[in-house]
Amino acid sequence: MIRITDILDKIYDYYPDADVGIVDRAYIYSAKVHDGQRRLSGEPYLSHPLEVASILSDMRLDAISIACGLLHDVVEDTHATIEEIQRLFGKDAAKIIAGVTKISSLSFNTAKARQAENIRKMVLAMADDIRVILIKLADRLHNIRTLQFHKTEEKKKAIARETLDIYSPIAARLGIYWIKKELEDIAFFYTNPEEYEKIKDLVSKTQTAQEDYVKEVKAAINVIIKDAGIPGTVQGRFKQFYSIHQKMVSQHLEFDQVFDIIAFRIIVDTIPQCYEALGLIHATYKPVPKKFKDYIGFPKPNGYKSLHTTVVGPYGERMEIQIRTREMDDVANSGIAAHWSYKEGKTLDNETKNTFAWLRNLVEHQENYGDPDEFLENVRIDLFPKDVYIFTPTGEVKNLPKGSTPLDFAYLIHTEVGHQCTGAKINGRLVPLQYKLQTGDIVGITTTKGHHPSLDWLNYVKTGKARSRIRQWIKKQETQRSITLGREMCEKAFRKHKLNFNELNNTPEMEKAASDFNFKTVDDLIANIGYGKITPLQIIGKLAPDIKPKKEDTLFNKLLPRRKERKKKGTDGVIVDGLEDILIRFGQCCQPIPGDSITGYITHGAGITVHRRGCINALKMNPERQVQVQWKTDVAGTFHVKLSLRAYDKVGLLAEISSVLSQMEANIVDVNLESEKNKMVNGFFTISVKDIDHLDDVIAKLKKVDGIQKIKRA
Ligand code: MN
Repeated sequence: MIRITDILDKIYDYYPDADVGIVDRAYIYSAKVHDGQRRLSGEPYLSHPLEVASILSDMRLDAISIACGLLHDVVEDTHATIEEIQRLFGKDAAKIIAGVTKISSLSFNTAKARQAENIRKMVLAMADDIRVILIKLADRLHNIRTLQFHKTEEKKKAIARETLDIYSPIAARLGIYWIKKELEDIAFFYTNPEEYEKIKDLVSKTQTAQEDYVKEVKAAINVIIKDAGIPGTVQGRFKQFYSIHQKMVSQHLEFDQVFDIIAFRIIVDTIPQCYEALGLIHATYKPVPKKFKDYIGFPKPNGYKSLHTTVVGPYGERMEIQIRTREMDDVANSGIAAHWSYKEGKTLDNETKNTFAWLRNLVEHQENYGDPDEFLENVRIDLFPKDVYIFTPTGEVKNLPKGSTPLDFAYLIHTEVGHQCTGAKINGRLVPLQYKLQTGDIVGITTTKGHHPSLDWLNYVKTGKARSRIRQWIKKQETQRSITLGREMCEKAFRKHKLNFNELNNTPEMEKAASDFNFKTVDDLIANIGYGKITPLQIIGKLAPDIKPKKEDTLFNKLLPRRKERKKKGTDGVIVDGLEDILIRFGQCCQPIPGDSITGYITHGAGITVHRRGCINALKMNPERQVQVQWKTDVAGTFHVKLSLRAYDKVGLLAEISSVLSQMEANIVDVNLESEKNKMVNGFFTISVKDIDHLDDVIAKLKKVDGIQKIKRA
């Protein structure tokens, strides 16, 4: 069992001035709370946090990370609380432990491969500090190293599977290749023992030859650079079992075909030496065209630097050679973890800031990082998440844009689930439909048969899918209602002209009338009568040209506002959901202005009349005819509104009022003053304003006019 002093020694090794007090205290605390607990191996539980801390020190992380490694299981497995951790070890440590604990509490169901990517994102999204992930990886690494102590094969396989699905890809994305490799090779052994043994066997058969080859080439390269006086070392890379397996599977290769490229790495002291070594290699071995990449001159977005070239080796085989400095090698090996190394006691330096900029960049331009072979690419690190990852009640992970609500989730599942959604439960507790989903939430939807969407849902759905489904539904309802209304209107009008609408309906004549008006179907034609766009009379004119009633005779012309008036009112300002291009009038009784809460009524032959909610006339309307309307977000133009005021009758009052109104750019349309005997005056104004805010400003200004006692919207 590793001892705390070994870990402290390692820290002092890479950071001699480290303040390891927190590590010491974390060790003592962890030992105390884990006391008496044992691992499946029979060892004291403390061995596990110590091993995790040791792995973190191999990654050369800061003292807080290592302390958190020692503490990573205390909240999950002992009586310790986050509050206590914060009190004893500070805010940062508490945040990190909370993050690790939260991820540990998730139970993933990775049976479905397509789930894996979402779960990886979820894990990353849940960590707002990269150290949470690094600790989780170290935790998993030690757990898989000791997987043999689990009792059942099933359990071993499940953990190994999860490691391959979730943790090794995360390690790869963060560029921590040594962890990725170890996780994969151990997990491979448990998930696919036959394949593992087969490859192991094949590798050991060719091993001697391979080793001789690597030795020979290493020696040759060593001579080349030593002769030129370049200090450096040469490494030959062996492929790991799991990546051999993966390559065989994905590229349908035989075992010996996988070994066609062997990679070598030359590590030197300085950048000029990198280029010098490259020149020497190219002078000795013929470079393969287009295989040279200069990641020193043009570092990858993640900061990776190295020279890559492929040359033809001594036996005519291809060899890949990477050339880099030791510092570049450190960054390449530990990936993102390198940015947390050596940082003890320093504030955020430029390098770290750049890393964050890089992370943000990755998130924003993730689609540009599609090549899985590229180091650290195809990465989506949700440290700055735009998405939330949530669980369905059956444990599937779904992903939605940040700000999504249970309704978005309901529509994601199925349109009908969305339409009939009446409630939502998060982690078993009821929440309003406006609730903003959080990563890790388990979301359940309650549906009620026959329930349907309402217009205000549009205000709190985030996804285009939910929005369009709700709109479609509303439009369908409105159309249905307009058809009913249009049919009623036609029946009446037709009767008046001794025609039977129901007999004529669905005759070729009627279809022709529809196409004459540029409608696809008779229903569209009837619906547009309901909307008030055409009148039944116009249809009668088509069907029975002989009937030429006097215009004044028709009910519709009486109800129909005169053309000029209709034009003037326009449709500007209001959206009738589901309907486009419909005739809109504003009720003169209540004169709605933008910002007022409004409702609409289908009016015979006159489209839709918009009233303020609560307008006495609106309340008297047939609810069947009610439609939901909304102000457009960018209404232009002015609207008339009536004001009533009471003031002391004094000279110049009206002049003062009109000066205020003109300052406020609110035109007076009409004014009427009535004096009372008691020196008081009642004023009635109609003014034009832009919207409710404008009106409020105007009223506030008028209230300050000397003499005005009371002023309000009429
Ligand atoms: Mn653990």
